[in-house]
Amino acid sequence: MASSDNGSSRNLPNTTPCLSYWQRTTRSFPHLFANQDNTVPSKAKYVVIGSGISGGLTAFELLEAGVPGEEVVILEAREAASGASSRNAGHVRPDAFRGFNAYSKVHGPEQALKIIANERLVLEKVNDFVKRHQVTCDFNLTTTFDVCMTPEFAKYEAESLEAYKQAGGDVSHIKFYDGLEAQAKTRIPGATAAYEWPAGSSHPAKLAHFLLQSVIDRGAKLFTFCPATEVKQTGSSLWDVHTPRGIITAERIIHCTNAHAALLLPQLETYNRPNRAQAHSLVPTPAFAAENALQNTFSLRYSLLHFYSLIQRKGDGTLILGVSRSNPTLSPETLDSRFSTDDSHFNEEIAQDALRSFNNLFPDYAPDGSKTLHGEGLDHAWTGIIAMTTDSVPFVGAIDSLPGQYICAGFNGHGK
Ligand SMILES: Cc1cc2nc3c(=O)[nH]c(=O)nc-3n(C[C@H](O)[C@H](O)[C@H](O)COP(=O)(O)OP(=O)(O)OC[C@H]3O[C@@H](n4cnc5c(N)ncnc54)[C@H](O)[C@@H]3O)c2cc1C
Repeated sequence: MASSDNGSSRNLPNTTPCLSYWQRTTRSFPHLFANQDNTVPSKAKYVVIGSGISGGLTAFELLEAGVPGEEVVILEAREAASGASSRNAGHVRPDAFRGFNAYSKVHGPEQALKIIANERLVLEKVNDFVKRHQVTCDFNLTTTFDVCMTPEFAKYEAESLEAYKQAGGDVSHIKFYDGLEAQAKTRIPGATAAYEWPAGSSHPAKLAHFLLQSVIDRGAKLFTFCPATEVKQTGSSLWDVHTPRGIITAERIIHCTNAHAALLLPQLETYNRPNRAQAHSLVPTPAFAAENALQNTFSLRYSLLHFYSLIQRKGDGTLILGVSRSNPTLSPETLDSRFSTDDSHFNEEIAQDALRSFNNLFPDYAPDGSKTLHGEGLDHAWTGIIAMTTDSVPFVGAIDSLPGQYICAGFNGHGK
């Protein structure tokens, strides 16, 4: 079993993770350290490995389908929901068309259309779910701007939109703004063009915690700091899940381990790779506070590899700024260091780049470099591990070669 943080896709999650803004604001979740000293039961019908949004939702859907909670055990290597689900940039943002050409190249146009349609469906489903179950996860349904910061990227987007339209893609929900209109709509003086479509933001840790709380209330058992280290067949249709606190024999195993799936499923080693990503929380200056708060979310794009994501939270006004992992303006050392499962610290160069770019994009944030007040500006920076798959879509479904085992992993920086 690999355990170091050398970026192998066969690593367990790092044991000394930093805390994200989302985690720092939910430290009173009562099941954060659930059963951390207890041994695991020797039997369970279902073992869900991983307690992020995929693991929590899998358990939730099992119970909704009538499975008694007592038959479900969730194993988590660290504290509850401490993977990408509690470390992301807070966007619930479908790809409306941009990825169409790229998906088409790999999967063909028919599948690419389905992938884009599915992105939209996820937003609708999150919205429905949050309303139906009254989830207090600060979900904010709004619209998002895809802002093109260069003529080259505006051309790329226009071509993607055209290809998507030509293939029969629905564009009825997408608005386009050029030049000055784009600048006025987005508050970004350097914008070349912008597209707008429905999207949202949420407090992802609160959503993950809601799922876990709900299944625990109905009898499911969560074991934190309890990694699954091996899954071995026992008898004809049973599996032994090994953990440092005992072995669970189970009928069904669901791998919700995202970037770490290949530890237990080595056949995924080259297809599902960890990539470190970084996000930042900022306390707004008056230009972005009170009635000046941003009402939309943003993807601010210089090129396909160089972009920033931005949301502003309704409740506390915090801005959450994400950075593209392959930003070519970063040094080669920083770019190389993203191939890692070490989420224990943030990278200073990325943070400085993010702040500089944010100030360039929104010059009225701190006009003429004028001083911000103590307490305004960068609040916190953190990292998390994204799972990148070779065909840019996740693995979801039964694992044919391992009857009784299922997977829901490899979300490519999406999926919450
Ligand atoms: C910095 C950053 C920004 C992002 N921004 C966005 C965004 O704005 N919008 C968006 O939609 N997505 C975003 N993402 C991606 C999104 O967060 C993930 O795709 C999503 O949370 C995946 O959920 P998951 O439950 O599948 O995986 P995770 O949340 O990673 O959960 C997997 C869990 O499995 C546990 N685990 C792993 N191996 C084992 C094992 N062997 N035994 C027990 N437990 C194990 C891990 O500790 C972890 O808790 C971002 C990700 C990062 C890191």
